[in-house]
Amino acid sequence: MHVIIEPVTAFAQNCSLLICEQSAQAVMIDPGGDPQQLIALTTKQGCKVVKIILTHGHLDHVGAAKELAEYFQVDIIGPHHDDQFWLDALPQQAQMFGFNAAEPFLPTSWLVHQQRVHFGEQELEVRHCPGHTPGHVVLISHQDKFVIAGDVLFKGSIGRTDFPKGNQAQLVSSIKQQLFDLPDGYVVYPGHGPITTIGDEKRHNPFLSGRFG
Ligand SMILES: [Zn+2]
Ligand SMILES: [Zn+2]
Repeated sequence: MHVIIEPVTAFAQNCSLLICEQSAQAVMIDPGGDPQQLIALTTKQGCKVVKIILTHGHLDHVGAAKELAEYFQVDIIGPHHDDQFWLDALPQQAQMFGFNAAEPFLPTSWLVHQQRVHFGEQELEVRHCPGHTPGHVVLISHQDKFVIAGDVLFKGSIGRTDFPKGNQAQLVSSIKQQLFDLPDGYVVYPGHGPITTIGDEKRHNPFLSGRFG
């Protein structure tokens, strides 16, 4: 699988384009904004987007989802149903973050823990990781050994938990139970900032070591 990370919006949110090399089918995860830039990226790659997947309901991750779903004529899958209140509140989020006006929308379907998402010859495992938001999911490729982590885990940090229904203890336990059981070599693609690995975060992340965790 070919993984391309394209930062979008003023928050430099990492939209990811996962391309199945055998079929040229692709999924776009967290198209938070800058739809023209993302369309140009898919054109340049010569891939066919077959699904849009959302990790959670924050505007910088979902802002261009509806427009691009209409453009590509595809379904929006995810996040977990517990993030519906964030999608319902998109107009307020736009105001809060100083983004262009955003309309509420619903995905075609919600994701549930341990669901498998398929495209081309690829499979992604869904894991529910509440804490940053209650309905946050991450997506794992066991074949290519990586995790699309959204705002759950960053290089040397973890997601904010000061939003409504955020919960730091729950976030730490999501990371320990759902991510740290993966092998150390799995690459982590966070929603913001540089990539890392499960092993590096187990060893060096100050929020997750025994002392602070
Ligand atoms: Zn977020
Ligand atoms: Zn974010």
